[in-house]
Amino acid sequence: MEKTSENEWIFKTVELPRMISVGNNLIDQAGKIMNKANLGKTGVLIADPITIKIAGETTIDSLEKSNFEMTQHLISSASIGESHEVEKVIKEYEADFAVAVGGGAVIDVTKYGSFLANVPFVSVPTVASHDGIASSRASLHKDNKKHSFTAHTPAIVIGDTSIINNAPFKFTLSGCGDVISNLTAVLDWELSHRLKGEAISSYASHLSRLTAQMVIEHRKEVYKGSPSVSDLVLKALVTSSMAMCIAGSSRPASGAEHMFSHALDELSASPALHGEQCGVGAILMMYLHNGDWKLIKDTLEEIGAPTTAKEMGIPDKDIITALTTAHTIRDRYTILGDTGLSQKAAEKLATKTGVID
Ligand SMILES: [Zn+2]
Repeated sequence: MEKTSENEWIFKTVELPRMISVGNNLIDQAGKIMNKANLGKTGVLIADPITIKIAGETTIDSLEKSNFEMTQHLISSASIGESHEVEKVIKEYEADFAVAVGGGAVIDVTKYGSFLANVPFVSVPTVASHDGIASSRASLHKDNKKHSFTAHTPAIVIGDTSIINNAPFKFTLSGCGDVISNLTAVLDWELSHRLKGEAISSYASHLSRLTAQMVIEHRKEVYKGSPSVSDLVLKALVTSSMAMCIAGSSRPASGAEHMFSHALDELSASPALHGEQCGVGAILMMYLHNGDWKLIKDTLEEIGAPTTAKEMGIPDKDIITALTTAHTIRDRYTILGDTGLSQKAAEKLATKTGVID
């Protein structure tokens, strides 16, 4: 129960994952985990041509050893059409559940497809690059534009750290950027609560901040890339997802820095990773909030994540355009206000923070 304003209390239902397993060589245990969860015995495993080799086939083996009847379906992009295909396969096969083995695209396509087919899904991330692995929203392309769709939260999350350890480290660093950007997302939420009376959950906002602090506190270990980092980042991403589940929206983990990242996605044919852009966005938005933007910049630098346009491979002019248009990305009140930044203000902001020269 959360207090929204002086005299108003809201009651709501929070949907969270039922089981979260994070550990080494866990997909070998997928059958045992799924038996415990009791979701039924027939499943469809969704992957892409790469992730089926990385972890999909091992997951199917493990499930079949535990007497699950499995079929597989491969996808090639994060589009709404792929989600409809997944829905069709689940229904044709009369599957009790779906298993997503892959990165953001596979998880988002399965999340929405299983939601449409009304069966639970299991999230098995092969990279720890963003906090969608346990959240209820799916980001999918429709008519050449990315949209965020209401779906459902995974029933089970199996975070196998040995798989994450084998993925390129820049994905894990991107996950760190996504989690650190919670700091500005929460400030935007609090601002909107004060100025627009938007409902806020102090539980969700505290949890969201806590995950960012976890990564900041352990930045030296992240830099070293020790195996324990996968465990830390996976847990931080799942916790960040849970803050969104509690809030019932992406608010605790998505503010102006995410709108800036989405604006960059629309501008560029080959944008940087989501968490890389959100991390740089958090430096910029924290400057506007008059908060400790240097801590964000120093942390990203220290762990080896990009802090400049050049390091992200994005032209300076795109940074400025994204800053001046970010407020139009969605109807969400943030530090950018209703009218956004002027060209001049955007240039000053990007230069002062060292994001552009
Ligand atoms: Zn994000």
